[in-house]
Amino acid sequence: MPLNLSDNVQYLKGVGPSLAVKLNNLEIYTVEDLLYHFPRSYEDRRELKLLKDVREGERATFRFKVIGHSTFYYNGKTHPKIEVSDRSGVALLYCFNRNFLKNLLKVGTIFYLTGSFVLRKRIPVFSQFDYDLDTSSPTLEILPIYPLTAGLSQKMLRRLTSYATDHYSGFIVDDTPGFINEGYKLGTKGDLVKEIHFPHSMDSLRRTMEAYSYKEFFKYQIVVALTRSKNRSIEKLRKTAAGELKENFLYRLPFNLTNAQKRVLGEIEKDLGEPRPMNRLIQGDVGSGKTVVALIALLDTIEVGNQAAFMAPTEILARQHYQTICSYMEGMPVRVEFISGSVRGEYRKKLVDGLQSGNTHIVVGTHVLFSDDILFKDLSFVVIDEQQKFGVLQRGRLRAKGNHPDCIVMSATPIPRTLSMTLYGDLDVSIIDEMPPGRAGVTTSIIKQAQISKVYETVREEIEKGHQGYFIYPVIEESKTADLKNAIDSYERLKKVFGEFKVGLIHGRMSDEEKDSCMERYKNRDYHILVATTVVEVGVDVPNATVMVIEQAERFGLSSIHQLRGRIGRGDYKSYCFLVPDRSTGRDAFNRLRILQDTQDGFKIAEWDMRMRGPGELFGKRQSGVPSFIIEDFEINTKLIYRAQKDARRFVAGEIGSKEERDRFLEVFVASNSYRESALYFGG
Ligand code: ADP
Ligand code: MG
Repeated sequence: MPLNLSDNVQYLKGVGPSLAVKLNNLEIYTVEDLLYHFPRSYEDRRELKLLKDVREGERATFRFKVIGHSTFYYNGKTHPKIEVSDRSGVALLYCFNRNFLKNLLKVGTIFYLTGSFVLRKRIPVFSQFDYDLDTSSPTLEILPIYPLTAGLSQKMLRRLTSYATDHYSGFIVDDTPGFINEGYKLGTKGDLVKEIHFPHSMDSLRRTMEAYSYKEFFKYQIVVALTRSKNRSIEKLRKTAAGELKENFLYRLPFNLTNAQKRVLGEIEKDLGEPRPMNRLIQGDVGSGKTVVALIALLDTIEVGNQAAFMAPTEILARQHYQTICSYMEGMPVRVEFISGSVRGEYRKKLVDGLQSGNTHIVVGTHVLFSDDILFKDLSFVVIDEQQKFGVLQRGRLRAKGNHPDCIVMSATPIPRTLSMTLYGDLDVSIIDEMPPGRAGVTTSIIKQAQISKVYETVREEIEKGHQGYFIYPVIEESKTADLKNAIDSYERLKKVFGEFKVGLIHGRMSDEEKDSCMERYKNRDYHILVATTVVEVGVDVPNATVMVIEQAERFGLSSIHQLRGRIGRGDYKSYCFLVPDRSTGRDAFNRLRILQDTQDGFKIAEWDMRMRGPGELFGKRQSGVPSFIIEDFEINTKLIYRAQKDARRFVAGEIGSKEERDRFLEVFVASNSYRESALYFGG
């Protein structure tokens, strides 16, 4: 049988059903998925270092032998402490939350370790490090380090990617036009993928990553450029509204709009006076009042008898929007309905009927709104909250259900302007850069683990004043199970610490119903403290919550923390956010958190985040046109995006490249996944 990128990994040489299951856990189902499972980092084994030659804080790779085991006590638990040595000395590994290392690194085992140490009583101590048991490689080389899952080793994965790149990378279709490849000397995509897995040198790796990123950006910018020119050519006929509904609404609104809200509303109204669909991104920090602006914007549409859809990324957020909108609309002749995966059976049928007959004016829901059975009589306005969770390409799906609906995308992730202009090039941008008055605000402090009792004291004081608090724990995809266990353990611990209070727990493994009822209870003050993982959007508006403790804060992106702390300080009460990094946190990570202490400006924070962690962290990697690995250098990224955008626009406009190349590109592109997604954009 001829080889094919879509071959199931299970049929690769040496992969049986049990290994296949493990690969599936990493979302690797086909050979193609495997090829795009890129290394998280690399180990440069061409140069092994000896302990005696390396300074404190310097990252290096060592070849160690395990010589002893003991444990240390931290945060209510014991963790392995492993003693190792090379020819030149001994070192200690503090394995925070990595109990499994005890069994992997048995006494006598020889392995490679990459990381940096700190000196404690003159002894090198490693607490964050990569390890590699694969000592079989006879030559010293640069080896990929992959994201792993339980039961899968670097060695196994390397063998598979090596086999796959040798036999399959030739089948990867290069979708960049030839003149671009030649002009920039980019190389074919298949070769680049191979080099990313097994680089020849660190220099060639850097060049390869840039070339690959450029290609991905270029393709994405083509979608943006096509969408943009398509949008601009659509004619939208509008009925004129008398504006009574809006007037009535504003009259009943219990507050005055801020100047920023008025300005953005003005920008929207100008769009709505044009004979083509609006496509506008509203950016503004959490709590800046985006929702109410979007709501006012769609009232004219309702007045003339059309429909609007309001979409949020999670059930909790959607339900909250629904409740907010209902309360705003009370007593007005507007019918609002809610839909999510949990709306089923008769109920769902009735709802679908309401949308199809036009009886329902506004529907609020989750991505379920994409479903095939959801049809509208006349969908003319779409609002999408928290856009980056959906991805630029998915937007079109909802839009395709209507007749060129106007579209507002709301995002609380403040994207640096340089990037929003390019990544969201098909959208016009409005920014709400002012908070409604009367917010008492949030004071953020970084607290060392050793001082955690002071934090508990403040939490206690706040609760005694009648307020509520959050404890937040990270859940990172890669270590999901371990993280979840960590959060649950902490929940049990906090229940003891705060024995006099009621403590709730919410996390991503719970069903939507469970999450909802838990949030509902918190809102009703049945819980004083809510322990939550980040998998759950803490998107619920509980103005009574005044204190938030974020544990292992060093593992969060700055923007995520900024979003999280936006959940407190929403009422009239002064609020407190405590960032508690793990004891093992290095100085750099610690300093990074200081930015949050010093500024409330989401844009500044986002830019820092992007400099430090790359844009993928901000946007979600798969959907955003950001390559699945990220060049860490902010300047290089920005430069590549700009160049790709310029080239793509000119290519689409026919200013560069030949007609044949354009046709060929579109042919390859149309056959690709990204087109199938974007075709929905074009209503095709
Ligand atoms: P966002 O969607 O930007 O996070 P919301 O629209 O949810 O913000 O607004 C947060 C809260 O502030 C809501 O309770 C809303 O009613 C209130 N709000 C919005 N605009 C104003 C304003 N101009 N003055 C006072 N309160 C406002
Ligand atoms: Mg909001």
